[in-house]
Amino acid sequence: MVCAQRLPFLHWDYFLQGTDLKQVVVLGATGSIGLSTLDVLNRHADRFTLHTITAYRSVKKMLELVLAYEPVQAVMACPDAAEQLASLLPAQSPTRVLGGEQALVDVASASEVDVVMAAIVGFAGLRPTLAAAEHGKRLLLANKEALVSAGSVFMEATRAGGATLLPIDSEHNAMFQCIPANSQGRPQSAGVEKILLTASGGPFRGRSRSQLVAVTPEQACAHPNWSMGRKISVDSATLLNKGLELAEACWLFDCTPDDIDVVVHPQSIIHSLVRYHDGSVLAQLGNPDMRTPIAYGLSWPERIDAGVSPLDLVSVAKLDFEAPDLDAFPCLRLAQEAITQPGGMCVLNAANEVAVAAFLDGQLGFTGIDNVIAHALEEVSSREPENLAAVEALDSRARANAEERIHKLKRDRRGV
Ligand code: NAD
Ligand code: MG
Repeated sequence: MVCAQRLPFLHWDYFLQGTDLKQVVVLGATGSIGLSTLDVLNRHADRFTLHTITAYRSVKKMLELVLAYEPVQAVMACPDAAEQLASLLPAQSPTRVLGGEQALVDVASASEVDVVMAAIVGFAGLRPTLAAAEHGKRLLLANKEALVSAGSVFMEATRAGGATLLPIDSEHNAMFQCIPANSQGRPQSAGVEKILLTASGGPFRGRSRSQLVAVTPEQACAHPNWSMGRKISVDSATLLNKGLELAEACWLFDCTPDDIDVVVHPQSIIHSLVRYHDGSVLAQLGNPDMRTPIAYGLSWPERIDAGVSPLDLVSVAKLDFEAPDLDAFPCLRLAQEAITQPGGMCVLNAANEVAVAAFLDGQLGFTGIDNVIAHALEEVSSREPENLAAVEALDSRARANAEERIHKLKRDRRGV
């Protein structure tokens, strides 16, 4: 049963530790979560300063952000992009430019940093996110792939480092809000009977399997309620995202998939619910805008303005619920199975990242995504990774398997 022992690392006295401004690093600043985070931070210059922003190689976007926000540092994971960015900045710019993957780790663990927003997409975010955990930061976790791939390695780093791990994924943030912490900062899970994880159903809700075969990346990325990066948009369309979130909830709230029911709620107004033994069901509601969970992560246990428009229930009018269709969207079932296999979620995540990239690149059909994942789960033998090196080795093996499978599917399609 849910016991939420996995989040005992909440430091209640966050804003009581002096009056200093909190120094914030935003990993993945040019992305959807990164930009929403900058918007919230910008509303609260009296509480937060922007220490570092990072991106992969989008120089143009990063240049705009550096000029607008003037952070202390800007990191481009791609070294060539860092050189380009530095050459474009005016000589009097106060921002120092760094390049390379190690720089991401260094900024996430720098001693003067208080808060790290982990918003790099995919497994690429694991090392800097883990570094923030190991160095005891307030860690705002959007990068769910890092947690589900590294599992116990990630949670142990959080515990050992004394980090305050706060979920930013809207569903987990909602659960966290519905399982309130006591005055020692421990989530009080006594009496919790079930977690109800909501899913929008994505852009293809209601379609049969055969109606999914020819869908395009543009259709898959057109989410009805949320504006997100392309990878998570495809994950929402396949329901694989809900599988990642199931595993994420199991780690964060110390429970098993049996403790969690997935409920499709197409309006995305209720972000998740917690049912208690006495029959009470607590839900967190709000407009679908990631600035709400981001603001809560930044300010918890207080609340700050997020810039989100108030929820107008009369105009929402209706809240619908239905069961997920696991025949049309087998990715959720694959995740339910993978969670029970040691290392299974690491394999599933790696195969999915490769398959989604191939789908977005026109190399794989939409229904090929679950085919590639199922194949990797069958073929890649795994056990629970004990350290970062083992997580990375397992991730690489699963990626190689997925690449090979995609080549085979392409060859078969061409009739070779
Ligand atoms: P995005 O694609 O919009 O942005 C990704 C960011 O990561 C960009 O800044 C990019 O430059 C950076 N990045 C990409 N590859 C990188 C690499 N190899 N090395 C370093 N940096 C790299 O993605 P997003 O939608 O903002 O999602 C970010 C994370 O948050 C994902 O893990 C996603 O699952 C999670 N999340 C997103 C939302 C949402 O509403 N967008 C909601 C919940 C959770
Ligand atoms: Mg979510």
